Amino acid sequence: MSDKLPDIIVTATLPFFIAVPMSVFGLYVLKTIYLTVDRLDQLVRLDAMTGLLSRTHFLSNSEKFRRSGGFLILADADKFKSINDTFGHEAGDEALKHLALEMQRVFGPHGMVARMGGEEFGVYLPDTSREQVELLVASLGTKLRSEGFRYREQQLVPTLSLGIVATTERLSSTCMLSKADEALYTAKRRGRDQYVFVEHLDEKAEIAA
Ligand code: GH3
Ligand code: MG
Ligand code: MG
Repeated sequence: MSDKLPDIIVTATLPFFIAVPMSVFGLYVLKTIYLTVDRLDQLVRLDAMTGLLSRTHFLSNSEKFRRSGGFLILADADKFKSINDTFGHEAGDEALKHLALEMQRVFGPHGMVARMGGEEFGVYLPDTSREQVELLVASLGTKLRSEGFRYREQQLVPTLSLGIVATTERLSSTCMLSKADEALYTAKRRGRDQYVFVEHLDEKAEIAA
């Protein structure tokens, strides 16, 4: 009987020695999958250089822009090529991070800020009046012009031109974006470092289905 006792103990405890490591391994695999999915989600959601929302994520919310009202802004850095040409590509990268930080500071608490690509940004501000939007945009312009940022021995002062539209359910998001783009290019033509506002969109341009 005493010979059989170890066999019984081994048999009885065997599942425990198999199940526990398997559970631990299973949990490890699940955690790794979870972290990988989370990382992939971040890669899709965030712009790697600036930490702002990505264009993909921003545009995936465009139906919300239509339905919830508010304001859509497209902003483009002024004469950005000359920053690269004069101070180098690294200075250009730092200028983009600086612009992104200032935009996030000003608009972030009120809505979404994204890097649309290159030196172009998108902002969506729900629950905001035209007066508030103009105050926010003006305060951003003042901050950018008055402070700039230090790059090596230089003080660089990049500025933005902005096109702003009031969103409406009557127009498709593509149409609103193209109206904001037109307004932005009007701001460029008028001399840059300024904004152009389009409140009453031409609804004949495109009526959303
Ligand atoms: P405008 O005022 O008309 O917008 O002039 P601009 O020079 O900003 O416009 P243009 O389209 O001629 O040049 C944009 C430049 O932005 C060229 C491109 O190399 C630079 N750029 C875009 N993305 C990046 C980036 O991630 N890093 C750096 N350093 N430069 C970038
Ligand atoms: Mg551009
Ligand atoms: Mg530009």
